[in-house]
Amino acid sequence: MVLYESVIESIGGTPLVRVHQLAAGLRPRVYVKLEYQNPGGSVKDRAALGMIRAAERDGSLRPGGTVVEVTSGNTGVGLALVAAHLGYRAVIFTSSQIAAEKIRLLHAYGAEVRLVDAFVPKGHPDSLGAAADRFVAETPGAWRAGQYDTPANPAAHAESTGPEIWADTGGAVTHFVASAGTGGTISGTGRSLKTLSRGAVRVIAADPAGSSYSGGDGSPKHIEGAGHTVHPEAEEDVWPQSFHLDVVDDYLTVTDREAILIARRAAREDGILLGGSAGTALAAALRLAERLGPDDVVVALAPDSGRNALSTYYDDEWLAERGFVFDDSDAPTLGGLVDAPAPRVATHLTVAEAVARLRLDERDAAAPVLVVYRRSDGEAPIPAADVAGVVALDELRKALAAGAGHDLVREHASLAPPTVGIGRAPDVALAGLDAAHPDWIAASVLRDGRIVGVITRETLVAHSVRSDRLAMAR
Ligand code: PMP
Repeated sequence: MVLYESVIESIGGTPLVRVHQLAAGLRPRVYVKLEYQNPGGSVKDRAALGMIRAAERDGSLRPGGTVVEVTSGNTGVGLALVAAHLGYRAVIFTSSQIAAEKIRLLHAYGAEVRLVDAFVPKGHPDSLGAAADRFVAETPGAWRAGQYDTPANPAAHAESTGPEIWADTGGAVTHFVASAGTGGTISGTGRSLKTLSRGAVRVIAADPAGSSYSGGDGSPKHIEGAGHTVHPEAEEDVWPQSFHLDVVDDYLTVTDREAILIARRAAREDGILLGGSAGTALAAALRLAERLGPDDVVVALAPDSGRNALSTYYDDEWLAERGFVFDDSDAPTLGGLVDAPAPRVATHLTVAEAVARLRLDERDAAAPVLVVYRRSDGEAPIPAADVAGVVALDELRKALAAGAGHDLVREHASLAPPTVGIGRAPDVALAGLDAAHPDWIAASVLRDGRIVGVITRETLVAHSVRSDRLAMAR
């Protein structure tokens, strides 16, 4: 159908597009379902419409009512456009960390945006969710969509996304690959494909590395929308009820690096501009396809387009700042200069415990030690958000001598140092440090979005001078 009597009728019916270059040499046919062809630009238009229609049916949303939700992106746009068309007020709660363009987009649809800033665990009275609940309680006619827990979210996909894939492949689909944020897409689509195929279709969750869905510690990742993160001080990890775990046959984890690389390649080689979580899904689909046969048909769902990511995954400067290096140039980098793994001490330790535990060479007693949340207190690369501050062993010894042994380490820490990408040349890194943070004596070095070491200003100065001399000698 191509003639619609309203914008909401045009939600769904998105195309399945064959992937050629990236799937070259693989036996199965691999398709992506381009959910960015929905009117609001993402898969979330389906859930938004489904949730609003269900609320109208059960009476929780009435004419003149207000649609409320906590979201940093696509769900807000979907709700805003459906609310605009149906004459509801839309109020979106989000964090001011989100891109200005996303706020403008919500405003364009006439939605109101409430910015709440608090890095606190779920359920905390200062959280976004608590602010939205207070607003709903105080506002007559207000209804919170609740995408994480409402059955209307997966139901929207069971009614539309799944049957579309089944019909468009003529029942030939054998594997469905999607990421899970709320879990609505994979649960509803997967359930419906299993029903239609009498259990034959395999459902695979493509999960960002670190997401707790596939067994990670819930630490933050760079791919938005997909996976499940946990606040470092949360007491429990609560999963959304929209995610029906029994639908998933297998999980494939995909690193930020792999997802970004595949998304960038899909644009350049296949002409398909994918968002980050679509990159996650396609990367998993291609890996899966390596072990399948010529009769298999793999469908990966692309939740949104790379247009939402032009200033992130497709921006060379954004990537360089976070240490994502995709070309093998032999230019000088920080690679050989960092002490890895980054020296660290956990936030929950007391000063006395930290002094006893820190095994540092005496030469390094004045060197920066990252103060990290408990889950990052091993040897693995550290997500930048898990660094609560920085301290030196000398400072902790002084505090201990002054009788502060029972204080927590973090009470004696300074602000977390700035970060620099590992692919930077030493003089570029030094110039960046000087410009933004003239007082800093060190920076954390990021590779593929995580801290792999700490570099001091002294080292940067030494190597910048050396490369100057080399340049002069040439
Ligand atoms: N990717 C993107 C870009 C999204 O906005 C979302 C929705 N939050 C998802 C993936 C995951 O979809 P779902 O919430 O249906 O699991």
